[in-house]
Formats: sequence, C-alpha cells, structure tokens
Amino acid sequence: MNLTPRLRLLTFFILITCATIARGADPLTIQQIAPGNYAHRGHDDVATRANGGDIANVGFIVGTRCVAVIDTGGTLAEGRALRAAIRAVTPLPVCYVINTHMHPDHIFGNAAFKDDHPQFVGSATLAQAEASRADNYMRALNRELGNAASGSEIIPPTKTIDGAGTLDLGDRTLSLRTWKTAHTNNDLTVYDEKSGTLWTGDLLFVGCIPVVDGSVTGWLDDIARIRQMNPRHVVPGHGPLDPPWPQALDDETRYLAHLARDVRAAIKKGQTIQQAVDSIGLEERDKWLLYDIYHRRNVTAAYAELEWEQ
Ligand SMILES: [Zn+2]
Repeated sequence: MNLTPRLRLLTFFILITCATIARGADPLTIQQIAPGNYAHRGHDDVATRANGGDIANVGFIVGTRCVAVIDTGGTLAEGRALRAAIRAVTPLPVCYVINTHMHPDHIFGNAAFKDDHPQFVGSATLAQAEASRADNYMRALNRELGNAASGSEIIPPTKTIDGAGTLDLGDRTLSLRTWKTAHTNNDLTVYDEKSGTLWTGDLLFVGCIPVVDGSVTGWLDDIARIRQMNPRHVVPGHGPLDPPWPQALDDETRYLAHLARDVRAAIKKGQTIQQAVDSIGLEERDKWLLYDIYHRRNVTAAYAELEWEQ
C-alpha cells in the first residue's frame, strides 16, 4: 500500500477506533477502598434495562502475581466493563474469579473472563444451586434486560471451597470461608489478610433490605460470627462501600431478629402465612430500600422455615 501521509494518519485513527470498539466496554467505575482492593458500587435497585443489571457491588483484589475478581455483575457486558477496569489498574493476569453466591447479579458477568482461563471459585454447594435455577435465571434475565443480557451465561466453579480455603495472589493471601445456609445455601466470604478487608457478598446488606433465600436463623448465626471478624474494611453485597464497622451489621441484625421473633409468634398464635405476611415487619418499611419488593417474600420464607421448628 502506498498511502499519502494524511491517508496514513486517517488509517491509523480508524484502526485505533476499531481496536477500541473491539475491546468494547467502558471500564466500570471503581474505588480503591484499601490497598489492592478495588470495588464497584452497584445501583440500589432491582435489575432493569436502565441499570443494565448493575445492582450488586463487585470488584477485584490485586497481588504481585495475579488478580482475583470477586463477583462479576449481572451481565456479560458488566463483566467486560469490570475486566476493563482491571486492565486500567494492572496488566497482571486474572487467576481467580470468585462468586460469593448463586444470585444472577453476582454471576452473570463470569463469561467476560473465560479467555483469561482463571479458576472459577465458589462454595461446594454453588454448582448444584446454580444448575437447579439456571433455566429460571436465564429466562428472568432475558425478560428483564432484553438485549443487554446477550452472551450472559452461568459458569459453575472449577475450584470449590467447603468450610475454609486460601488463595495466593502473590504477597497477598485471601481467606475464603463458606457459611451456614443464610442468604442462600452457598454463601462465601473473602478476607484479604494483608489489608484486613472483608468482602461479605450478600451476607451483608446495607440500606437495601436483606433478602432471605436461605435461612433466617442460619443468617443470624452467621452474622454473629462475622461480627467477631473485626475487619478494617468491608465490601457489602449491596449498599455503600466500606461502611462503619460493626454498626453496618446492626440494621440487618435487627431486621432478621425481629422477622424470626414475629414469625415464630404468629405461628404460635395459629396465624396463617397470609396473616403473618399482612402484619409482620410493617415498622421496618421506612428503614429499607426495596422493602415493597422483598419484605413479604422474606416473611413467607421465614414462615416456611420456622413452622417446622415447632
Ligand atoms: Zn444475593
């Protein structure tokens, strides 16, 4: 090709533009909340076309050898944007993609990291939980997000944690831990020992109402143990990043404790599930975002769990 200098310059810019488009994704906004720990704050909402399913807090931790991603967001597109954010911080390879639990807003970006060939890490109970809900999750994702969901898929863990385990990122060790059935039956937390940063996944909701998709009593037990961990920094699954500790646990603890107490009382009085749903927890209404969407469901779940206690 014999191009004039102007044409050569134009060709250069076209190539750069094409390369940028091919790379896709604008980077997700992130905040360094502790050395090596970068988190993105999701929208306080349910998944909509407007927010593109970006509703959970997600992020990554950088060692001297490689990077661990902690949750990947609600779509392939969000996962790609998270990957772009990582690339803006470090060229180190992504060696682990950790999912804190099965919910769609935390896992559907996994596919963005396929070409990095990481280990996908999750609780030993994650794969089966995902498989049993896969059809429903895919259907709901496509219904709620339409084209924005395209390419999203469930990628189950290739490395599982049952109880406790560690990951080495090079001069930075992550302690992973699984929990009693609580938010779900596959909750996992990540603790960066070097900075004292705890990534709770959805074992901690701040501002947004906790969603019981596992066990209210198990969750109360887990929170009591998490309180003892005394992290220096914390990334909740939903809500403001690095909230004050341990006060960040107080609202969730009160909500779940009152939910368990009031549902037990309703069962004892012989109330039906509908009577319980209509009367319990009304005083919490002004204290939480998304109360109207999830509170009744929480009462129903707690009732189904606790009626077997009697
Ligand atoms: Zn969740």
